[in-house]
Amino acid sequence: MKTVSVVRCEDYELENVKRAVYEALDNISSLKFNISEGSKVLVKTNLLMRKKPEDAVTTHPAVVEAIVRYLQELGCKVIIGDSPGGPFTEWNLRMVYKAAGMFEVAERTGCELNFDTSVLEVSNPDAKRLKSMQIIKIAREADFVVSAAKLKTHGMMTYTGAVKNLFGVIPGLVKADYHLRLNSIDNFADHLVDICETVRPVFSIIDGIYGMEGDGPSAGEKRHAGLILASESPYALDAAASSIIGIEPMIVPTIRAASMRNLFSGDMKDIDIKGIQLDEIKIAPFKLPKSHNANLIGGRVPKAFEKIVLNIHRPKPVFNHDICISCGDCKRSCPPGIIDMSSGKPVPDLSKCIRCFCCHELCPKNAVEIKRHWLYEKVMKK
Ligand code: SF4
Ligand code: SF4
Repeated sequence: MKTVSVVRCEDYELENVKRAVYEALDNISSLKFNISEGSKVLVKTNLLMRKKPEDAVTTHPAVVEAIVRYLQELGCKVIIGDSPGGPFTEWNLRMVYKAAGMFEVAERTGCELNFDTSVLEVSNPDAKRLKSMQIIKIAREADFVVSAAKLKTHGMMTYTGAVKNLFGVIPGLVKADYHLRLNSIDNFADHLVDICETVRPVFSIIDGIYGMEGDGPSAGEKRHAGLILASESPYALDAAASSIIGIEPMIVPTIRAASMRNLFSGDMKDIDIKGIQLDEIKIAPFKLPKSHNANLIGGRVPKAFEKIVLNIHRPKPVFNHDICISCGDCKRSCPPGIIDMSSGKPVPDLSKCIRCFCCHELCPKNAVEIKRHWLYEKVMKK
């Protein structure tokens, strides 16, 4: 049985958030015993890109502050960190921390922000795919890592939460290399579970006060859910959170991958909910991303038809040159490097596109839309 704590919190008023975060963590009785006084703890916050807290892309600073204070009261030395999209440089970190309100958290609490951009090679012989991986040094140096995630849908993985958040320990552009290795969503989910099993967060917490639906994790619509969720099991936590927003846990590739390794059964009956019971939460299902199931066709139809079906079924990134500012972030983050900017605006070679949607995820102007073939839209709208 895995414990998941669910607490209501309607807004980002610091005192309300603190009460909710403390209650959510206090509900997990074993948690305090696992964190020894004097430990160095990395709060791996979802700082995907340079976005303000009110955009609901990054973990809200009030939630981060409450986690930091909770850990400090346990006698821990706390560091906030992430490797956001784009290059893992001090300048990029500074810009992202600034936009996300992390400097203020550090100032108010006295915790540290990580500016160390060193990288370590770490091995995990028990991993299924990533037996050796590069991770940001601070994630290894810290005695414990906390996954401080955001409740969002995700173009590629359907849902993003505690497990996917840990992809941020992979340094900057190395992420693109790992994306490239994927030949299916399930394969990528295995990579994410390998990373999660290597990092082994001491607990995970999800900022579900405001989340994101539709074309998450960055270009969707902000959505109120009024919840803080926490657990020692990132898999059970993601299962509970996805279920709350109307996504059947077993269609989330990371939960499916975890259940195949017996890390969590995937069955909601195996979760002991502390706090608000799931049937008391009335939230209309979150809208799914347009790219949902984008890569699930591969291998499931006869080879001869696969290309035609894929072309109709799979969505593609469409670049809106009218709002594009030619920053080149999409080109830099495209794993197979198939975006040409020689005309000044991005033009992808879609025949080589792996549908990872990093371009969509990291575009600061939401100039990359995910669109499906007109035939698919027509049939699905009937
Ligand atoms: S599409 Fe977005 S990320 Fe790409 S160059 Fe234009 S503004 Fe930058
Ligand atoms: S064009 Fe966009 S979706 Fe296609 S491979 Fe590049 S980053 Fe991924």
